[in-house]
Amino acid sequence: MKVLVTGVAGFIGFHTARRLCAEGYDVVGLDNLNDYYSVELKRARLNELEALAQFSFYLIDIADPAALLALFADHRFDRVIHLAAQAGVRYSLDNPTAYVQSNLIGFVNLLEACRAFPCEHLVYASSSSVYGMSAKLPFSTDDVVSKPASFYAATKSANELMAYTYAHLYGLPVSGLRFFTVYGPWGRPDMALFKFTRSILDGQPIDIYNNGAMSRDFTYIDDIVEGIFRLQALPPAGRAEAIDQAPARVINIGRGSPVRLLDFVDYLEKALDRPAVKRFLPLQPGDIPETCADVSDIAELTGWQPSTTLEQGLAEFVGWYRSYYAI
Ligand code: NAD
Repeated sequence: MKVLVTGVAGFIGFHTARRLCAEGYDVVGLDNLNDYYSVELKRARLNELEALAQFSFYLIDIADPAALLALFADHRFDRVIHLAAQAGVRYSLDNPTAYVQSNLIGFVNLLEACRAFPCEHLVYASSSSVYGMSAKLPFSTDDVVSKPASFYAATKSANELMAYTYAHLYGLPVSGLRFFTVYGPWGRPDMALFKFTRSILDGQPIDIYNNGAMSRDFTYIDDIVEGIFRLQALPPAGRAEAIDQAPARVINIGRGSPVRLLDFVDYLEKALDRPAVKRFLPLQPGDIPETCADVSDIAELTGWQPSTTLEQGLAEFVGWYRSYYAI
């Protein structure tokens, strides 16, 4: 089984590739190693992967269609797990073109490569952000999503629509995974947990948006990877190359149990054994105050259930952070 993982030097791509190698898959990873956040951290993740015999890496930008096609021609992947993207809600307000390059142009290049060299399953990252401001809780994949709060969310919604057309026009089996606030060791420095941890250890204030009236469905990385692993192995959702029976699905992967931001900070203070200095600020443009996943689809399809408590997950993150930064 040969699998391509795009965005392999990223947080979720790294963990996914490591799991696939452990399951005995041949894993080809690609990434452009951009400097949206620490390139050193991305290289450190890659170093871990490059120690594994079944892993090989290509420095490729998915906005370059020729490079992608050459890679697909050389390898003939059985499955593709597409995690490369410009992530981050707030950054998308000031840098929309970065999202056009990676999330729209890069995405269509990937679809075209899968069309030219068909694989049995393309699994790609969507996001809980597609649910937008007006969604009711819990967020269900039956909900109509048409009001994105950020440009990032708009590109993720666009990915779902683009993938659907390739499923019904060309019979490409696709699954879009709407991840809910993923956290854990080797996590992203631009996300709240990483920033809070650094600031608390430095004695600096942490920013609490919407004056604390926020909650997030924090989901531990190992649970996310377990969900990705089970879903990539599923047969296509439909068979006919027809618009109403396209082999396409969209699935939530989240804990289904949101935590208030202030409670999250309490847990983190305990895990770090340090108090936080809180600075209360209004809701930021592009942000949504609450998220919560309805995970009945993935449970029915694969038997998946999240198994990591917030206390366990935070302890793992803090242990990794202290050892990685030697503090
Ligand atoms: P990440 O930023 O750590 O990983 C993305 C990787 O893709 C990075 O290593 C980056 O260098 C690479 N990349 C970006 N543009 C590229 C391009 N044009 N060509 C090649 N490589 C490129 O992010 P992550 O947290 O691992 O997220 C993975 C996916 O899951 C993304 O699509 C993200 O939008 C989505 N997602 C993540 C979360 C979360 O909480 N982490 C939540 C919802 C959705």
